[in-house]
Amino acid sequence: MVESVPTVKTVLDLRSQVSAWRNQGHKIALVPTMGALHEGHLSLVDVALSSADRVIVSIFINPTQFAPHEDFDNYPRNYQADAALLQQRGAHLIYTPAAGDMYAENDATRVTVDSLSDSLCGISRPHFFTGVATIVCKLLLQALPDLAVFGEKDYQQLMVIRAMVGDLFIPTQILAGEIVREKDGLAMSSRNAYLSSSQRSAAPLLVQTLQRIAEEIIQKEDIPAVLAAAKGRLAKQGFEVDYIEVRRASTLQPVIDKVNAGEVLRIFGAVLLGTTRLIDNLEVIYPNS
Ligand code: AMP
Repeated sequence: MVESVPTVKTVLDLRSQVSAWRNQGHKIALVPTMGALHEGHLSLVDVALSSADRVIVSIFINPTQFAPHEDFDNYPRNYQADAALLQQRGAHLIYTPAAGDMYAENDATRVTVDSLSDSLCGISRPHFFTGVATIVCKLLLQALPDLAVFGEKDYQQLMVIRAMVGDLFIPTQILAGEIVREKDGLAMSSRNAYLSSSQRSAAPLLVQTLQRIAEEIIQKEDIPAVLAAAKGRLAKQGFEVDYIEVRRASTLQPVIDKVNAGEVLRIFGAVLLGTTRLIDNLEVIYPNS
């Protein structure tokens, strides 16, 4: 029988395993997730394994990053399948804290990263990045890993976490994993499971739209006009557009002034397909004249 990945549920047990590994000289990585694992999450485990000796995967559906009307109650939960995937992938420890331990009754502290949290997803989900920054801060302080890995799928989240770790002097290196996609281009997401079969067939239009925007930017077409046309095409196919925007990749600042040749931009999209919210993003390098 294949041995299963050990699972700890309390910060005490987590820390005792981490300090045992530290005493053995191991470099430790943390991959925070909300479970319902797919190849995107597992690719982050690969990144972690390539840079550390021991990899902890946390599975915690964080209530503070969901608004009351969002899908916290229905969020997919499948510990057995997750544990089997993590076993196959070579993770060393699963951490599944209880909500009551992460947020004790008298819990009163929140971590907010100003400015970066205010645009894009922060507009329609104003609670979201404070919830994310708070839980990631707690997880990093609990495990004190040498490094932690996050996906570019949630690029704004990655930027918020990098800023938080820098501002709070948390001694953890943040690594990024590229977006893992289905064969038809749709970015993998635990929320893709909510899509009906016709919505699933339509969903790759989001990434196709971002790709077309990238091509048009490379052709130096007028960016506001390109974005307006892209939103129109999505709306026509039944997508409710939250935002389609182009930002400077290193700052998330809008592209309103001159773009320099070679500058790295990022195209961001968020749409609702029925009640399912999909997000995606794509890098584009502004061309020479
Ligand atoms: P989640 O479980 O959705 O909170 O995601 C946990 C981590 O997996 C985050 O760092 C995400 O950015 C990352 N992730 C989710 N989907 C993908 C994907 N398709 N490719 C790469 N990373 C992903």
